Amino acid sequence: MVFKKGHVPHNKGKILVPSDEKRKRQLQYQKKRREKKRDELKKKRDSKRHEIKFEVLSHYSKKLSNSRIPCCNCCGENQFLIFLTIDHIKSRKNYDKEPKNLVGKELYRYLQKKNFPREYQVLCMNCNSAKSDGGICPHQRRNK
Ligand SMILES: [Zn+2]
Ligand SMILES: [Zn+2]
Repeated sequence: MVFKKGHVPHNKGKILVPSDEKRKRQLQYQKKRREKKRDELKKKRDSKRHEIKFEVLSHYSKKLSNSRIPCCNCCGENQFLIFLTIDHIKSRKNYDKEPKNLVGKELYRYLQKKNFPREYQVLCMNCNSAKSDGGICPHQRRNK
């Protein structure tokens, strides 16, 4: 800093460098605040994602399984929303209108925007992976 002659620095008499203790407290405080903010944002994002998933799955479950709550269209699993996914009823290459590789929130948004097209259903992870493996879920084989 350059001072003119006779100029009194505004911080005259004050300690310029915070003591170590103070500095440490400051850093801790900042860190806490950052973490809190991050948690809040994450919570917000999660609840938004949960909301849209619930809405889309509810819609399909109501239509296909006549269920008030989201449930698997094959085995009826409805205890945990996290187990449920949107399944492409036909193989995915028949969905030329759908943008490529939509997953998760993007897919839910897309379905919402398209007013819930018919070629989709709700399946739990088990039924979904069984279906994509063997073309048909064992649950369905047993029923036939
Ligand atoms: Zn299932
Ligand atoms: Zn099944």
